Amino acid sequence: MKAACGWRLALGLVVFPAGGWAHFTGEPGHDAAAARLALAWRPAPTLALAAPSSSKPAAWTLAEGPAAAFAPFAPAVRTRVVGDTLLVESDGLPAHGMMVGITAWQQQVPLPQPYAGANAWRIPLRPVPAPAGTPIRDRFLRGAIALAVNGVPIFNPQNNRGAVSAEIGELDRWGGHCGRADDYHYHVAPLHLEATTGVGRPIAFALDGYPILGLTEPDGSAPQTLDAWRGHETPGLGYHYHASETYPFLMAGFRGVVVEREEQVDPQPRAQGVREALTQLRGARITGFEEMASRSAYVLRYEVRGIPGSVSYQREGEGVWRFRFQEPAGEVREVVYRASERRGGGKGKAPSPRRER
Ligand SMILES: [Zn+2]
Ligand SMILES: [Zn+2]
Repeated sequence: MKAACGWRLALGLVVFPAGGWAHFTGEPGHDAAAARLALAWRPAPTLALAAPSSSKPAAWTLAEGPAAAFAPFAPAVRTRVVGDTLLVESDGLPAHGMMVGITAWQQQVPLPQPYAGANAWRIPLRPVPAPAGTPIRDRFLRGAIALAVNGVPIFNPQNNRGAVSAEIGELDRWGGHCGRADDYHYHVAPLHLEATTGVGRPIAFALDGYPILGLTEPDGSAPQTLDAWRGHETPGLGYHYHASETYPFLMAGFRGVVVEREEQVDPQPRAQGVREALTQLRGARITGFEEMASRSAYVLRYEVRGIPGSVSYQREGEGVWRFRFQEPAGEVREVVYRASERRGGGKGKAPSPRRER
């Protein structure tokens, strides 16, 4: 990881805008830095990568504000303050690879999502401690519980059937997969984002507004005295959670006030599906995923007992996608789908059976 230390150090020199709270972030300097880092970084083939923390990145502080934590991912991720809320816009797709490594695949694929405008993510800028926190085990099994700083939602480590996604082959090398609306999301803490953010800066914000840090404090030391929600308060950072490499991976509950409605945090954006949700393809293993044209054409490759199949899909207009299914049995099908409003992982109008993870 010698090279990694070099560029992490370089990131420490990036100056984040003071007063960035009140504006969309998107300074070209950040974009260039983020792009260089994205190119420099290659994922390791396992979940939950923890980079060694020998370097000393510039620590994020509460005073800097949540918007600064999202800034390394501009312009793909844009932030804006409205009242006491940070609005975060993205298309929900990360700069890193996706899908490869999944062995329990529900046949969903990543589609760009309209998390923007009135459908943006909402992070409270002034989190309110709840009198008693709220555990997330066996609760909040629909929708997101946190938002990663690269604009990708994070769901409960348990899927909506209560199983721990990371333990049953549902997740790719980066800890994500796609929901019923073909909406990409993580089910574990994306520790690999520290390669871009710098160790010790937030990798996500829980939807109660508190930041989630990786495995260590900004100085590289192990967190001391975490509470029942895997959080604590320290000077400069205020209250924050710490991720873990095993269950619960994220915070264990919300220290702050959230509204729970229909088994999810309310409100939160809706994902836009274009087709019916599918069921698990037994024996499938995803072997490749490529973006053929920016945000408009993709190929996902898989195998079933060594026989290859693929799903190619391309955008043909606003909310219109042409899919080409190459089945392992040899059949080829082409279908054009059109968008319909549907809640990612939520109780949208999707027909039963509900098989979202
Ligand atoms: Zn801490
Ligand atoms: Zn899921």
